[in-house]
Amino acid sequence: MPENILIAIAWPYANAEIHVGNITGSHLPGDIVARYHRLKGNKVLMVSGTDSHGTPVTLAADKAGKPVEDVYKQYHDGFLELFKGWGITYDLFTTTHTENHFKVSQAMFLALKENGFLFTQKSLQWYSPSSKRFLPDRYVEGTCYICGFEGARSDQCDNCGNVLEPEKLINPRSKEGGALELRETEHFYLDLSKLEPDVKKFLQERADHMREPVIGESLGKIQAEGLKPRPITRDLDWGVPIPIEGWTEAGKRIYVWFEAVIGYLSAPIEWSQVAGQGEAWREWWVNPEARQFHFIGKDNIFFHTSLWPAELMGAGTQFLKIFAEDEKPLTLPYDVPANQFMNLEGQKISGSRGWAVWGLDALTRYDPDALRYYLTVNMPELKDSDWDWGDFVARNNNELVATWGNLVNRVLSFAYKHWEGRVPDVDLNALREIDGKLLETVETGFDSVGRELEAVRLRSALGEAMKLATAVNQYLDQTSPWSEVKKDKAEAAKTIYTALRAIDSLKVIFAPFLPFTCQKLHDFLGYETPLFGEQYIESVKDSLGTHNVIRYRPPADAGLQWKRSELEPNQQLRQPSPLFKKLEESVAEEERARLGR
Ligand SMILES: [Zn+2]
Repeated sequence: MPENILIAIAWPYANAEIHVGNITGSHLPGDIVARYHRLKGNKVLMVSGTDSHGTPVTLAADKAGKPVEDVYKQYHDGFLELFKGWGITYDLFTTTHTENHFKVSQAMFLALKENGFLFTQKSLQWYSPSSKRFLPDRYVEGTCYICGFEGARSDQCDNCGNVLEPEKLINPRSKEGGALELRETEHFYLDLSKLEPDVKKFLQERADHMREPVIGESLGKIQAEGLKPRPITRDLDWGVPIPIEGWTEAGKRIYVWFEAVIGYLSAPIEWSQVAGQGEAWREWWVNPEARQFHFIGKDNIFFHTSLWPAELMGAGTQFLKIFAEDEKPLTLPYDVPANQFMNLEGQKISGSRGWAVWGLDALTRYDPDALRYYLTVNMPELKDSDWDWGDFVARNNNELVATWGNLVNRVLSFAYKHWEGRVPDVDLNALREIDGKLLETVETGFDSVGRELEAVRLRSALGEAMKLATAVNQYLDQTSPWSEVKKDKAEAAKTIYTALRAIDSLKVIFAPFLPFTCQKLHDFLGYETPLFGEQYIESVKDSLGTHNVIRYRPPADAGLQWKRSELEPNQQLRQPSPLFKKLEESVAEEERARLGR
């Protein structure tokens, strides 16, 4: 039975470009796992979108002197190009600024209200008399009254991570300039304290398969501070309207932390609509057997392990009742394999200091699989990792090219040259013991690499695959078909057939990590049907206007492909060429010279 797997990836903010740290943090691991489950024949839905609301976006628009809509779309369209170039195969990558997302978020709000988890409360907020409006979070900065950090936002300190009460901020100053005064304002709060026992139980039930740093941080935070009520509306005129009369008119919107996570539910619903799939989203969302994986960076752990499950559990069966006149609970996340951070040359990645490797820019100089390889072997799964340009060149040349790329290239070229462009036509029953042993070794990879991918241990999965490639190299050292061909071509044919078949199996095992070159190899081996589907960008219209999305068209006969090669003797090959490029040592210094500009 195929499983339903939802791959839900963190929604990037529309105020900055995506760098390699973001890619290895969430988009790439999500894509690798999605591709693996597709090859296994499972029903995968991979979604995310641009977080188009919130003050980072409105501030960027103010700074650029442009409408907010233009700013979010400019970043959003760049994201779509990047995902296409890197082969991050979203079934749908959309935005939070859609009619569908508004409706779904509002239904979630009303479901929580109906179930008694919302209350209203008055508080003090900074107000600008000159622009006649409230100035929420990032519009006002000051010194944190808890840790003394000078660049704290009025509602949260990014240094100590605490939620702040705006009126206690020391030396508050407006980002717009001008005077500030405190005024009373009223907001809706989500009463998380009532949901604390449910969230604890949710986490404890998943403790066995969740990563230690993720479960540790989540339970530790609840233990130390408890879950406290949090405001879910605020004074801002950009965002999802509040579905209660008079509130939106008063210049208030739903708070972005509350609605952006709802994208994991609204994007599958939008996907069902644009793909003409009716109510198919229910297979992942109203199905206790479906498994949902959330790929995020460590800064977002608490939102995904505690606040989002709290929203879902609080809404209970009420969401579907409001949204679809049905009464069933929604599926809860299965795992949150959050990654730690990637640094760059020993320092924190920083866009403002130009200390970054940008995703789109990197593609102008390197092939996507070379980048994907380095980001996977160096993925910050359990602790922070570091992008080092010298290491990038070394690992590309000594591992990717030397172990896997050269193996493929010399075996394919040799077969093509000595057997008239065909797989040697051997009798399978005549294969020797050493041939059978190699094939057996390589084929264990479907279990051993599969087990690691299943558990989202991607570094170890790729390391295991590389070991199998090394085993094929050792086999060729022992059998040396390069000289054998002159003495006994029939014996050399057995060796080359066996090596080609091992490479054909390894192609599938490497495919989730290195999809572009594995597709190329698949073609060289003479196959007609593709390994994966195609990505394309299209426009979607709704009552808010038009937004672009990236989609994925699965191959026509997608089915189980995660299985050993049955390469046919005498199969026609295609003219091979090298899969990867060796990099010059000077690359590292050239790249380091670009940093910090
Ligand atoms: Zn602080």
